[in-house]
Order: sequence, then C-alpha cells, then structure tokens
Amino acid sequence: MGNRLRLKNIKNKVYVILISFSVLTVVCLLMWMRIQKILDEQLEEQVSEQGRMISKVVDNSFEDELRLLSELSVFVNIKDGTLDREFAEEAGVSYGVLKINGEACFGNKLDFEQYDGIFEAIHGNASVSCSQDKTVLFTVPVYNGDNVKYVLYKLYDSEVLAKTIDLTCYDGQGDCVVTDIDGNIIIKNENSRLSESFFLDSDNTEAYSIISDKMNISAIAAARMESDFGDNILFASETSYPGLYIMGYVPVETVIGETSLIIPLVLWCFGLLWLLLIIVTLYLMVAEKKAKEIDEFLQAKLIAEKANQAKSEFLANMSHEIRTPINAVIGMNEIILRECSDKNILEYATNIESASKNLLVIINDILDFSKIESGKMEMFESNYKLGEILNDVSSMVEVKAQKKSLQYETIVDENIPNELFGDDTKIKQIILNLLNNAVKYTQSGSVKLKVSGDLDESEEAVTLRVAVEDTGIGIEKEKISTLFEGFQRLDLEKNRNIEGTGLGLAITKNLVDMLNGEIDVDSTYGEGSIFSFCIKQKIVNPEPIGNFDDYRKAKNIDHKYEQRFTAPDASVLVVDDNQMNLLVVRKLLEKTKVQLAEAMSGDAALELMRQNAYDVILLDHMMPGMDGIETLKRAKKMEDNKSINAPIIALTANAISGVREMYLSEGFDDYISKPIDGKVLEERLVKYLPTEKVSIFKEEIVEKAVVEEETGLIDYERGIRYCGDIEDVYLEIMEIFCEAHDDMYNTLEQFFNNQDWNNYTISIHSLKSNSLNIGGKILSDKCLELERAGKKIRMGEDVPEQVEYIEKNHPETMKLYEETIKVATDYLKSKKDNG
Ligand code: ADP
Repeated sequence: MGNRLRLKNIKNKVYVILISFSVLTVVCLLMWMRIQKILDEQLEEQVSEQGRMISKVVDNSFEDELRLLSELSVFVNIKDGTLDREFAEEAGVSYGVLKINGEACFGNKLDFEQYDGIFEAIHGNASVSCSQDKTVLFTVPVYNGDNVKYVLYKLYDSEVLAKTIDLTCYDGQGDCVVTDIDGNIIIKNENSRLSESFFLDSDNTEAYSIISDKMNISAIAAARMESDFGDNILFASETSYPGLYIMGYVPVETVIGETSLIIPLVLWCFGLLWLLLIIVTLYLMVAEKKAKEIDEFLQAKLIAEKANQAKSEFLANMSHEIRTPINAVIGMNEIILRECSDKNILEYATNIESASKNLLVIINDILDFSKIESGKMEMFESNYKLGEILNDVSSMVEVKAQKKSLQYETIVDENIPNELFGDDTKIKQIILNLLNNAVKYTQSGSVKLKVSGDLDESEEAVTLRVAVEDTGIGIEKEKISTLFEGFQRLDLEKNRNIEGTGLGLAITKNLVDMLNGEIDVDSTYGEGSIFSFCIKQKIVNPEPIGNFDDYRKAKNIDHKYEQRFTAPDASVLVVDDNQMNLLVVRKLLEKTKVQLAEAMSGDAALELMRQNAYDVILLDHMMPGMDGIETLKRAKKMEDNKSINAPIIALTANAISGVREMYLSEGFDDYISKPIDGKVLEERLVKYLPTEKVSIFKEEIVEKAVVEEETGLIDYERGIRYCGDIEDVYLEIMEIFCEAHDDMYNTLEQFFNNQDWNNYTISIHSLKSNSLNIGGKILSDKCLELERAGKKIRMGEDVPEQVEYIEKNHPETMKLYEETIKVATDYLKSKKDNG
C-alpha cells in the first residue's frame, strides 16, 4: 500500500517535471521565433535602406548623363536638327536627333515603341528608358521657342553604361543590378553572379511575390530567403525613372555583423533559463526529500516521546500500585516482628522487612525517575536551614557507616550562611544519594561529606560546594561518562552483591540540573571517588552556620520552641475518636488562638461540616465505624457541605515512606503522622490556612527547660517534642493524663474482670496513645501488645491463647501504669516546686 502510494507520488512528480520542461521549451521556442522575426525585420529594414542608397547612386549617375545631354542639346541646329559638334567615337555609345515624327535628323532612327523615353522627351521631360536588347536610352527635348522640335538621345550598350555606374553593394559581398519591372536585368557589374533575370537566377518565385507585394505599397522592399544561393536577404528599390529598379541580394551573415552576437546571447539566456530550471527542480527535489526526512524524523520523535511518556506514566502508576500493597506487607510484617516469639519466623520476618524496605526504595527511585522523565518533577522553594539538612543526612548515613565500620565525617565551612532559600528537599535527596552510594561502594576506610560556600559579590547568594569523598572501589575512567545515564550499573562483577537499580545517579544529576547546578566526579579505580556538585542559593539571613559539630550538638540537645503564628479568625475542625488526641491538638494550638472544633466520629464531623465553613480539617484515618477515607469521600459528595473548600489533612499512624502519595491519591491535601509533632502541625496550618487569617511572627522564642531527670519510664524529651516543644502544653497534658488515671484504671479493671474484651481493647488502645503522648513509651508498648491480643480475640483468632496473654500481662501493665503515674506526678510536683 505504502509502496504503491510512493510510486504514484514519484510518477506525479515526473509528470510535473516533464510538463514544466515542455512548457519552458515551448516558451523558449516561441520567444526564439519572435526574436528571429524581429531580427529578420531589422535586417530587412537595414538592407532595404542599402537598396535605397544604391538607387540614389544610380539616380545621380543618370541625372549626370541627362544633364550632360541637356547641355549638348544647345548644339542641335534648330533648322535641320543636325549637331554642330564633333564627337569622339565611343564603342557602345551613340548619339542621335529625332524629329517628333520619328525621323532621324542625326544618327540612327529609333523605334518609338522600344523606348518610352522618346515620348517622354517629346512631352518635354528628360528621361531614361531601356529596352529588351540591353540598351539604355537617355533622351532630352530640344526646344524651338516653347515647343519641343527635336529629341536628342544618347544610346548606351548596357555593359558600357555599367562601367559608369557604381553598383557595389556591401563592399562587394552583395550583388546588385538594375532591372525592369519584371526583374529582367538591364545593367549589371562584370563580377555579378546574376545572369538574365534576378528572380530566375535566385530561383525563388516566392521571393519575387513577397518583394513585388511589398513594392506595391513601398518604394523599397527586402525579404530573407534561403535558396541555392544560400541564406540571403533580397532587396529591391525604385529609381526615379519609371520602369527601372534596383534589385540585389546580400548574404545574411554579411548584414548581421554585430547583430550576430544577439543570437548566442539569446541562446545563452535560454541555456541559463534551462539551467536555472534544472537547479530549481533539483533544489525542490532535495528540499522535498529533506522536508520528508525531517517530517519522518519528527513523526518518529513524536512516537518515541509518546512511547516514553506512556512508559513513564506506566512506571508511575505501577510504582504507586505496587507501593500500596508493599506498605501493607511492611505493616503486617511489623506485627509479626512484634508478636511472634518463634526465632525462625522472626528471622524470616526480618528478611521480609529488609527486602520490602529495599523494594520501597527502588520503587521510590523509579517513581522519581519517571516523574523527571515526564517533566512532572516540581520545584518547591522555601526558606530552610542548611545546618538542618546536613544534620539530618549525617544522622541517617552515620548509622549505615557504623554498621560497615566505616569512619564518617562531616566537614562544613563555618562561614556559610545558615538560612537559605531554595528547594531543600531536593538538595537533601542529592546529598543522601551520594552519601548512600559512598557507603554502599566502600568496604573499608572512610566517607566524608565536605561543604564549603562562595559568597556572591552582592552577598545575596552563596554557591554551595558539596563533595562526598569515599575510599571505596572507585570507577574506571572510561566508564565515568556513562555514570549519569539511567539504569547504568558499573563493574557488575564486583558489585554483584550490592543492590541497586542504576537510577540513583541519573536522578541525582537531573535534580542538580533542575537546581541549575553542576555535578562532577573524580575517581581512581580501586582507591576511591569524589562526587561533588555546586548550586547557587539565595541567602535569607547572613548569620554563619559556625562550627558544625557544635551546631549538631546544640541541635540535638536543645529544643527551642518558636511560635510561628497566631490566627484568631481561623477555624479548624479536628476529627479523632481518641479524646486524648483531640486534647493534644487543642493544647498544641492553644497559643495560636485558632478556633478549634472537635468531632469524635465521621458522622459527627459531617454534621459539623454541614453547619460551619472551616478553614482546615484535620481528619484521623483509623476510626471505628466510618474511617477517615470514607468520611472524606462522603464530605466531598455532600451537597450542603459548607466546608467543601477546606483543605483536609489526614492524621495517621501510618508513617511509611510513600504514604503521602497514598493519602493525596485518596483526595487528602496532606498528611501528618502520629504522634503529632507540634512543629509539623503548625507548619501545615501555616501552609493551608488562608494567608489573610494568619499573622506570622518569629521573634518570640520560648526556651525549653532542660529535663534534668531521666527515669526511663517517661521519655520527657520525646513527650515535649510531641507537644511542639512547648513545655507548658506538655505539663498540662501530663496533668490530664494523671487526672484521668482513676477513671481509666477502674474502667480497665472492670472490663478485665468482666472479660469484656471488646471494650477492654478500646480502652487499652486509648491508654496506649495517651501514655505515648507524655513520652511513656514503655507503658505504651505494653498497652500495644494487649491491644493486639484484644483485637485478635475480637476477630476470633487464637482466642484462648490471647485471653491467656491478657490475663498474664494485664496486672503487670496496670502496675506499670501506676508507676508511670507516680513518676509523672513527681515530675509535675517538682516542676511546681521549682516554680
Ligand atoms: P545504583 O547504586 O542503584 O546501582 P546509581 O545510579 O546510584 O545506581 O549508581 C550507578 C553506578 O555507579 C553504580 O552501579 C556503581 O557502579 C557506580 N557508583 C556510584 N557511586 C559510586 C561510588 N561512590 N563508588 C564507586 N562506584 C559508584
């Protein structure tokens, strides 16, 4: 089908080219004919002018003859018509005097019929006439008073006369004769090639008819003729004497002279035109071929791009689809790890944990890579602290390095400004990728993170130079160029046991490009590598980072609370089935003065949404009955929802990587993991509350009291962190925790004694969350175990065993509860005592 179409196209093109060439040829021919005609006309005009000039010469000769004859007429004796003058005899020339009746008074008698000139002279006109016998007669009247009495004549043999007349034409190149009206030659030069008749000799009757036609309307005529004589121009011209004509011919090439240059010129022009047409045709053919190639290339590119996009979308979808079940696998495996005591199974579960976490990292890489490829990777710029990034990545990598007995060091230039503006998440990801690789591909020695900075002249920006140095396996020089291509893994033989996709560096390079930075590698095979990059960042605050080790220590010990904002006009709805969680949120947000509404179930939340327009909704995921996702879906569909435009943030204990995407895909705007970190909560609210309702301030810094006591039962630091680093909030929550003790204790005892495992599980779940909120991690973990057992009983799994577990562990947990309360009460008391 395609071939046939192509053949048809080629045929069409050949036709078009042939037609163009034919048209051009016809046009050229027509032009050529027209030019020929114009040229001929020009030549004919030129030649006929020549004829006129020759006839003038002949006229002058004849006039001279007649004048001499008139002068001679005075010697005619009027009485008897004799000539009173002696003549030298001349061969071929004779004189005579005739009476008007025809008698000869002197010389020979002439036949009146033969020479018209005799009559002309009788009528008083000097005249020239010729006869068939090739004689030419000059006649003049001789007067007696006013009347003509005699005719004086001079008769020439034409050959003799010819010697006295110059009939040279075109320097002898042409041939010219005097003829009668029929073309019979009367006078001709000796060297004339013509014989009797001009037209007979030229053997061209057509010429005769053309010339005689022209002569009918004009005194001169010329026509181009090709005959045995060659290519000539024939010409004719009247003389002043009736019956006498000048006729001749001249070869065309003689006349053409300079004009002949016109022909090659015209031919040259035509040739040029043809050449031009050929060039244009060739150019068009080449251009068309090129255009077709470009078209095909673009088509192929489009198809490739589409395929690539489809691939990226497929990868993105697949990664998302895979990640959800993987999260479930990790979650379920976590339960196995906590609940199982069988050594073998624990070992398997540990393997599952590490494999599934690796899988998650791979999937996250693929997702990032496909996002970059499909251009969906976005920039999120904000103010950030460089020290925090470096501290975070160092903390993460340090652990991994320690596991491999590698020395890890962070060396940071003290003068770099700490507060910068840019996409900190991407910078963190770049450094982490490089550090993780360095640890991965180093068996012994060290990994170093070196950071320096060059301030701009304006001091408004700093170019960060980050280098990750390792003493690992290194990279062969010739492989370095392929390092940043996707799916490239080098030295597979050596790296057989090291897991990886070959995507990390491709992602890293793309991220650096997105940040307008540059990445570089310097490596010695077998000795180690230095991966370095530089990026420019705006400076928010010029205060330098200072000694990084001190910075880290201060960061990891001192927690400062920095209240970010107040928003008294903003209204927030928080939905959680756990009273304690609601309380935490309320306390955390107390200083911000936001108007907080609370709901303990999905139904109650929907009812409140029907009545009020909230600015932000915090919605717990795991709730009995209608869970958070279901509530969100119903809220979105609800027609009379006054809070339809409010961003909804998920509250979740599900803190596995990638969970954010899961919540976003379900329709949430963001998520906050539990136990809720006060700072994170404030950050989210600042992000999602309407800006006009939020007034941000930074100055008020509340120093946190240093926790002096460490009992082990309560991790105060953790508790205070959960309270947004506000000790007051923490103390209040701890107080509530203590106050709730009696009720909670009795309720638990009652459900335990009644073996009401359903309600027991719900209550123990509450105690688990509440104790974690104050940092009571040990009690919280114990409650978690009891909760799991209770859930199993509820689901009918291993009921006797689970009941036995609860019966065995409940008293111990309650004892722990008592002890925790005691520590908490003492702590509260000591705080009060210290004012
Ligand atoms: P992955 O580590 O998942 O294989 P990367 O894109 O991060 O993929 O790295 C690509 C390849 O570059 C690796 O397979 C490894 O061969 C090589 N490589 C990366 N970093 C280092 C390093 N620090 N030392 C030696 N080789 C490295």
